[in-house]
Amino acid sequence: MHATEALEEAGRLMIVCNSCRYCEGLCAVFPAMEQRRFFNDGDLNYLANLCHSCGACFTDCQFAPPHEFAVNVPQALARTRAESYAAYAWPKFMAPVFHENGWAVAFAAVASVAGFIGLMGFSIAPRDIFATWTEPGAFYRIFPHAVLAGVFGLAFAYAIVALIMGARNFWRDIGEPMATLAQPVSIWQAMEDAAQLRYLDGGGDDCYTGRKTDRRRLFHHLTFYGFALCFAATCVATLYHYLLGREAPYPIYDLPVVLGALGGVGLTIGPVGLWFGRWKADPVLRDEKSSGMDRAFLAMLFLTGVSGLALLGLRGTPWMNLLLTIHLGLVFALFVTMPYGKMVHGLYRFLALVRYARESRELKVQE
Ligand code: SF4
Ligand code: SF4
Repeated sequence: MHATEALEEAGRLMIVCNSCRYCEGLCAVFPAMEQRRFFNDGDLNYLANLCHSCGACFTDCQFAPPHEFAVNVPQALARTRAESYAAYAWPKFMAPVFHENGWAVAFAAVASVAGFIGLMGFSIAPRDIFATWTEPGAFYRIFPHAVLAGVFGLAFAYAIVALIMGARNFWRDIGEPMATLAQPVSIWQAMEDAAQLRYLDGGGDDCYTGRKTDRRRLFHHLTFYGFALCFAATCVATLYHYLLGREAPYPIYDLPVVLGALGGVGLTIGPVGLWFGRWKADPVLRDEKSSGMDRAFLAMLFLTGVSGLALLGLRGTPWMNLLLTIHLGLVFALFVTMPYGKMVHGLYRFLALVRYARESRELKVQE
């Protein structure tokens, strides 16, 4: 007996697949499955978080509907995965946020932008909303640096703690010992797999079209590395501020601007590509209940990227103050919703890859 219907179905399919094993070369899920005879809930959550929902095993399956076995592994694992996000949420009372995630993230974004506009109303006179300020420190005429550092520092610290606690819940549930996290070779292998999205293409075909292209990987890379570059830009700007005493906005050729601009381009193009890819993909592969979560996450990343690029392009103009306020509101909403949205998939998938690296290595030694 499994805890939920989704886990029950995933368990049934893993028993069918374990007898068949036709898909063992497609991704990490099948080799990991083959190392087990029985599947408890933790095993199924582990396998679900290894899966990229590429759909290759559905396309290849001779037991897919209308066959009476009705095997649809991508959909069953997508449902299991979505449920696992809520099960690992910290604190526990935040779990329902995953159930209506699209609305929750949209509400957080609107409330956050409205809050920052309200703060702007307190800190500058209405006639200055469209004032043109260009000197270093111009951003901080609207929001003092200490206020920004405090507000964003707290939001970021909370998000990190909540993500770490969620990761701990995942790790406990799948029954993996803490010692695995101290194995550099497993961590390194997982980092390589994650950085290359090694298993995203389900054995070589594009996840959206089934043709030999790699669009989903490309858009995923643009999104991930776009986010990483934007984060790096923020870190460099923080070092500039505290170590060199240099205040934003920086010249166009300066490192924080270059990193932020490249990251913004990635965050703008990547989510658009992933959104249209989702739209074109066969709905039978998806868990429709988590569509809102996927779309909300992509929309947040896109809006953050676009507003950052707009701020970069229009700074030194009368639009800068308003654009800065909107951008900060979106970034704040992105931070606080990080532990309660699709962002967690990267964390749990990475941890699942760490376990997979450890298991694969031990299996090779035994052979
Ligand atoms: S998805 Fe279908 S073809 Fe692939 S291993 Fe499972 S039962 Fe076999
Ligand atoms: S990653 Fe692709 S091939 Fe592997 S289980 Fe998921 S949908 Fe199937």
